[in-house]
Amino acid sequence: MAKAADADMSERIRLYSGRKFFFCVALPLMIGALALAAGAFATLRWSVAASDRAAVERQAALMAVVVQNLRNGVAHDQESVTVWDEAVLAMRNFAAPEWIDLNLGAWMHTYFGHDGAYILESTDVPIYAYSNGDVAPLAAWERIRAVAEPLAARLRQRLREGDTEGLSDRVLSLGESDIGFDEGHPAVISVKPIVSDSGDIAQTPGSEYLHVAVRHLDGDFLDDLTRRYLFDDLAFTPVLVPQPGREAFPIRNAAGRPVGFFTWRPFGPGSQVFAHMAPIAAGSLALLVLAVAAALLSSHRRSVAERTAAERLHHLAHHDTLTGLPNRNALDRRLDGALAAARGQGALLHVNLDHFKVVNDTLGHAVGDLVVRAVAERIEALCGDDAFRIGGDEFVAIVGERPVREAVALAEAILAALALPVQVGEIHAFVGASIGIAPFAEAGSRGKELFRKANVALHQAKAAGRGRIAVYDTALDADMRRRAALERELRRAVAVPEQFEVHYQPIVAAASGAVTGVEALARWRHPEHGLVPPSEFIGIAEGCGLIREIGAIVLETACRDAATWPVATLAVNVSAVQLRDAEFPAVVADVLQRTGLPPERLEIEITESAWLDPSGHGAATVAALRAQGIRFALDDFGTGFSSLGRLTDAVFDRIKIDQSFVRTAHASASDAAIIDAIVALARAKGLKTTAEGVETEEMARFLTLAGCDELQGFHFGRPASRAATEALLHRAR
Ligand code: C2E
Ligand code: MG
Ligand code: MG
Repeated sequence: MAKAADADMSERIRLYSGRKFFFCVALPLMIGALALAAGAFATLRWSVAASDRAAVERQAALMAVVVQNLRNGVAHDQESVTVWDEAVLAMRNFAAPEWIDLNLGAWMHTYFGHDGAYILESTDVPIYAYSNGDVAPLAAWERIRAVAEPLAARLRQRLREGDTEGLSDRVLSLGESDIGFDEGHPAVISVKPIVSDSGDIAQTPGSEYLHVAVRHLDGDFLDDLTRRYLFDDLAFTPVLVPQPGREAFPIRNAAGRPVGFFTWRPFGPGSQVFAHMAPIAAGSLALLVLAVAAALLSSHRRSVAERTAAERLHHLAHHDTLTGLPNRNALDRRLDGALAAARGQGALLHVNLDHFKVVNDTLGHAVGDLVVRAVAERIEALCGDDAFRIGGDEFVAIVGERPVREAVALAEAILAALALPVQVGEIHAFVGASIGIAPFAEAGSRGKELFRKANVALHQAKAAGRGRIAVYDTALDADMRRRAALERELRRAVAVPEQFEVHYQPIVAAASGAVTGVEALARWRHPEHGLVPPSEFIGIAEGCGLIREIGAIVLETACRDAATWPVATLAVNVSAVQLRDAEFPAVVADVLQRTGLPPERLEIEITESAWLDPSGHGAATVAALRAQGIRFALDDFGTGFSSLGRLTDAVFDRIKIDQSFVRTAHASASDAAIIDAIVALARAKGLKTTAEGVETEEMARFLTLAGCDELQGFHFGRPASRAATEALLHRAR
């Protein structure tokens, strides 16, 4: 589940840096950049179109002015010959055709580019025609007559009426003009009277000779316009066929009807600028988009890198580096959630290795690490994602939403897995484990409290002899609290050695009943609780290391007391913890030397279970003590399932048969058989036997018959103070 949660987080992180980043950051930014670019482009296009439109409007207006100017211009050209005394007189006197042709026809053509000229006499009959650069037959008049005749008539009318409208310094005579066609050419047709410039020649208004000028609006005129006003590809078309990219201007006659259109390719300054700018703008846009994309990419990379680093930190913070299992932080995060989800079902397993410290101390930390890894693998194989490593040799497993019996079954499987040795190279390391189980139902909703209770159960499992499982219950907790309190008090007591007393129990020879020895038994005189028996505090002292100090106090007191007593043997109990201390032989030698007790009189008792403790019992220490002449007894024999073979170790001089057999031996055939076997075996190995817990005469007799060498029990004397023991020994003597 923890791994699932982590995987979930990684997935979220990946999503954030991948798809989410794309949709929430990259895409909007890119869209924004493109929208900005599109907006800029649209604005540019709009201003290009606006400036093009303005230019077209100006060109159209220019065209209107040009056409108007043309009409005025043709009339103005005419006045250079029509307002001239000499011309009036020439007409009146029937001038030679050459003169008329030279001055009123060819001149106008060569000098002003007029395409046609006609002279009308007072009744509007043409008397001269000039067209296409040469004198023409008078019939040519017919080509423009439809347009020109009404103009002439109107002009004569105005002349007759003495109209002066439009006359000025520049316009010296009245005139009429219109636009029509001359042989299919659109043309300005302008009519002017031939009048006196000096005013000296009298003329009858309306009867003047008229001069008609024709100027075609196509052909060289268009070339001229193009040259002068820079119209591009200017053309004339009588019928307008709209063409894209061409502008048209209607040429209207005096009646307002269009006679045709000038068309040209309009000048588009905006488009020209745009055409120049477009590659630059496109380039800039591409650069902008590239820059945004690059910025996005780099920020995306950075964010991915940051998130990967955060993910790694998260993993490191929640996992144990040695085994890769989730660690205590991860457990804290998980536990409350698991409790809430399980609704009372399930349990927490607290696994502690029994002999890890010994492995570490004797085989080194490198091997210790390998052992922890192997242990982690075994636990993970059984518990999967629900396994945690919370300390050096401490593991936790969560059994969620399942009955407690399943948690117990799992704990048993873990114990079985950890009972197998861990092979490191040539070495087989035995670690073993104890497991405390706290059912979820005990914890309310608090993970911390559950963990504490699993820890209480674990201590119980350890106290019960390791390699065991204990399920938390309230009584157990009370016991734990009492033990914890006792441990605190014991620590204080060690500083006040007088609180520890030694009582002695006599040991008698089975055959004679004579006292051959005493066993020193520790007592703690508690200031409030009175005399506390060793069963209450020795285990605690062993657990917290205080047994060294207490053992030393007992040893010294006993040796001093017994040094002068008339007994062959002083038996002193020593725990495995003391034997593991390499200093211990020196401590014993020092005590013997100071108290004067000969080493041969000292017999050290080691319980069978301590001797079998795989964490070791200090074989070297035992050998050193034996070398001093000190003897050893195996205490409580029969409780620890010693293999008989181990007794060949030549460590012990005596076997003390445990009282659990002794008490029932005279009544139970099987126990009697066991005692017979032990005695026979001991004899075969050359060991002495002592029967413990002899409470009655009957038992004493039975055990004597069975062949026990010595007897010990209430029947011969209870453990008693030094003074009482001295009195007893005195009486015995
Ligand atoms: P142990 O060494 O087997 O000592 C014999 C225990 O049996 C003593 O209990 C003694 O009072 C009890 N006992 C003797 N005869 C009888 C009998 O006839 N009937 C019954 N019911 N009990 C009898 P005690 O003094 O409570 O000591 C308990 C254990 O504590 C000892 O068992 C020994 O293993 C341990 N112990 C005592 N003093 C020390 C010490 O100084 N150092 C260490 N390491 N262990 C000690
Ligand atoms: Mg003993
Ligand atoms: Mg015993």
